[in-house]
Amino acid sequence: MSPQTAYPEKNVSRFDTLTGSAHWQGFTQMSEYEKLVIAEAEGCWLTTTSGDRVFDGVSSLWCNVHGHRHPKINAAIEEQLHRVAHITTLGMSADVTEKLAEKIVEITPGDLGHVFFSSDGSSSVEAALKMALQYWHQRQHPRPNKTQYLALSLAYHGDTTGAVSLGGIKYFHQLFAPIVFRPIRGPLPCSYRLPPGVTPETACDAYADEVEQLLKRHHETIAAVVMEPLVQGAAGMITHPHGFLSRVRKLCDDYDVLLICDEVATGFGRTGKLFACEHESVTPDILCLGKGLTGGYLPMAATVARPHLFEAFLAKTSESKQFFHGHTFGGNPLAAAAAIASIDLFEETNLIHALAAKTQQLRGEFTNLHQNQHVGDIRGRGMMVGIELVQDRDKKTPFDAAELVGARVCKRATDLGVWIRPLGDVVIVMPPLAATDEELEHVGKIVCQAIADVTEKG
Ligand SMILES: *Cc1c(COP(=O)(O)O)cnc(C)c1O
Repeated sequence: MSPQTAYPEKNVSRFDTLTGSAHWQGFTQMSEYEKLVIAEAEGCWLTTTSGDRVFDGVSSLWCNVHGHRHPKINAAIEEQLHRVAHITTLGMSADVTEKLAEKIVEITPGDLGHVFFSSDGSSSVEAALKMALQYWHQRQHPRPNKTQYLALSLAYHGDTTGAVSLGGIKYFHQLFAPIVFRPIRGPLPCSYRLPPGVTPETACDAYADEVEQLLKRHHETIAAVVMEPLVQGAAGMITHPHGFLSRVRKLCDDYDVLLICDEVATGFGRTGKLFACEHESVTPDILCLGKGLTGGYLPMAATVARPHLFEAFLAKTSESKQFFHGHTFGGNPLAAAAAIASIDLFEETNLIHALAAKTQQLRGEFTNLHQNQHVGDIRGRGMMVGIELVQDRDKKTPFDAAELVGARVCKRATDLGVWIRPLGDVVIVMPPLAATDEELEHVGKIVCQAIADVTEKG
């Protein structure tokens, strides 16, 4: 065997001829991918290596809050870099991480009081699942049979295997069914397509009743209900009826089941309040945070637990009750510094207060779309908007998926200067929360034009 066959040589020049590249990108068909490479960014704008400027219409995958290269966040990271970039938080900690944990406790709802750090949203969900299970084993009156989870239909909680187990999106999850655990599947609490006989007025009760039936049957073995509050982002901005979240909270209390709220997408102002749970005065037992935690600057996530959970893990070391989970980069000081600066900025810029007007403006930009026969629904909460394009508006019939209508709209919008990324035929618009009125107007105009160009002219 020649060395060449054992170690095929790299032929760097083939990168020029193949559409693919050294970089294999997530959720991206590399054979059709047209390279879009960003060289720098400022505020809500990205500049490509060829010098084109595009507006960051999905906040760099739903995480940017105050804009790129914000002087305060940049300075906080730089300052921290001069002290320490990374240490472990297993058995020790950094001053800046301690400070962030206290801040998160301060700003999160109710008595959420203990912050477990990881590096991405999926990991925050994994930690929540394991935390819930270990809790039922170790609490004062142990219930070791509680090992199942109830997840909503079309759920999305990340791409690691545990998070995929909860997931209910065909293309993301079905293939991996042989290697995951099965959750108990709840309803899709959708406000657009209602089950037969259900009206907008009765939708909340109908969906909550469905959850109750499942809890009634399975509560003895259910450790937790896991859900995104208010809006299921990756499912296509599926927007729940008002009151659904608080009904589920009540049901979890009634049936002695934990409530895990995944606010990786909805957290940090996205829905118009700092946390979506606040809209319905709900405190989950475990809260998952990610994306916007560092203002979208550095990878960091958090799993925040209430005291009864935390306390079930307290014992003598020799009893082996500590949480058996931990990540190398959990609580990273640079990320913690960015997160503190981002949280402080919410207060300094009075951002939450400003969001009501921004939300109204963003929605206003889409008013004319209601005349387009292919716009089925415009939904979401706050600065989290999904525009569902359909073949037939009255029957709510989707387009043939192979037509890639959503993708074509987003391509057109990008060519016109606004980078957006669809979920099927739902056009997602999630500008950074700091976007100005003029910028929101720009986004609105271009998204409307892109939709018109694709749906009216074919
Ligand atoms: C994005 C997302 C995740 C996964 O976060 P990653 O940082 O991509 O691992 C989990 N849950 C929800 C609701 C999300 O939107």
